[in-house]
Amino acid sequence: MADTTAFDVVIAGAGPAGSMAAHRLARAGRSVLMLDRLRPASPRLGETLPGAARRLLVREGLGGLFADDRHHAPVTGGLVVWGDDRPVASDVLRDPYGPGLRLDRARFDSSLRKASLAAGADWSRTDVGDVEQCADGWIVYRDTGSAVRARTIIDATGRSARLLRRLGQSRRRGVPLVALYQMARPENNAAMERTLIEAMPDGWLYAGKVGDGRWAIGYHTRPDNAARLRACDAERAAILARAPHLSACLGALTWEGPVLSRDARSLAAKAACGPGWFAVGDAALAFDPIAGQGLFNALRTGLAAAEAILVGGTEGPSAYAEEVERVTSVYAQRRQALYQAETRWSGQPFWQAQCQTIADRKSHRSSLSEQGYRI
Ligand SMILES: Cc1cc2nc3c(=O)[nH]c(=O)nc-3n(C[C@H](O)[C@H](O)[C@H](O)COP(=O)(O)OP(=O)(O)OC[C@H]3O[C@@H](n4cnc5c(N)ncnc54)[C@H](O)[C@@H]3O)c2cc1C
Repeated sequence: MADTTAFDVVIAGAGPAGSMAAHRLARAGRSVLMLDRLRPASPRLGETLPGAARRLLVREGLGGLFADDRHHAPVTGGLVVWGDDRPVASDVLRDPYGPGLRLDRARFDSSLRKASLAAGADWSRTDVGDVEQCADGWIVYRDTGSAVRARTIIDATGRSARLLRRLGQSRRRGVPLVALYQMARPENNAAMERTLIEAMPDGWLYAGKVGDGRWAIGYHTRPDNAARLRACDAERAAILARAPHLSACLGALTWEGPVLSRDARSLAAKAACGPGWFAVGDAALAFDPIAGQGLFNALRTGLAAAEAILVGGTEGPSAYAEEVERVTSVYAQRRQALYQAETRWSGQPFWQAQCQTIADRKSHRSSLSEQGYRI
């Protein structure tokens, strides 16, 4: 049975993208309901909020989210070893957007959600099941069977894109990529505020200090490789110990806690909006983590979709669709150029696969599987 209350907008997912959209819409006086299961899923380790995203939050009156920064760690620059054996250092002093923050994601998401509730949005803890079109909009079903009505719906469910899939909307899928993450205590330079990115023969690694002083270490590789390494601590530790710059910088690592595995491939919705519906954040476009722009994109698309709803008509949605399409195309070009810039292991399956265009992926997949690789 559908609840008789009809909301202007129902948002499935209250992560950064959903909360940002809710905040803007509620401030503009629209009735908004966020539905999120808030399942204690696998935590997100060591994600960096870029300086540009902080500026966007400040512009939305959300600068207070970082009033108490103890739980997030400042990121003052990077060391990148990619395409060459020598590391290239970058410094936020040269970045017009200023320093980033390595987030405690649960805390960040919760602060943003609370800010959208303070702006007047409602929320309910529930798993979103199905969605159905009706005469005056939509009926969104909770997994309990109860339902709510909405004039407009927003899919902010992240990579799972729950509503898009229920609406039969397809997505372009990038080359398979899996990230294995674990926390560690380094022997040296534990207080360093730089991010280290290092390309390796069968993947690339990421290392960054989090708020509690430990380091999040991520290894991004082929799915079959990730499955094997996740199951074998010794082999995983041995591979990371062979990363020359990680070892030189941090010394021996003492591993702590579970090894988390996350899908990290690119995903792009073929359409980011349609009549009465919008997809935002990862549901619209999920980046390869090498881009470091997922959170900015989540906040920006949340905001842009809210603005499109406020403009209304066909003008708002068209502008939104164009913006997402433009970002998707620039991202695809830059990502490919980045992977192609690493030529030291261009004959290795990982780098061959990541350098492909969508067009030549199919034939390459079959050639790799003939060689015995499970891609
Ligand atoms: C390995 C890895 C490292 C990354 N590192 C960075 C980084 O350093 N910097 C950066 O900017 N980005 C990074 N990202 C990207 C970043 O995590 C995402 O872009 C960002 O979380 C997207 O926000 P979102 O709100 O779209 O989705 P999410 O954060 O995934 O939020 C989706 C919400 O929807 C809810 N939900 C899902 N399905 C349902 C359902 N059926 N019913 C109810 N609720 C539901 C979930 O509970 C969740 O709260 C990384 C990604 C990966 C995979």
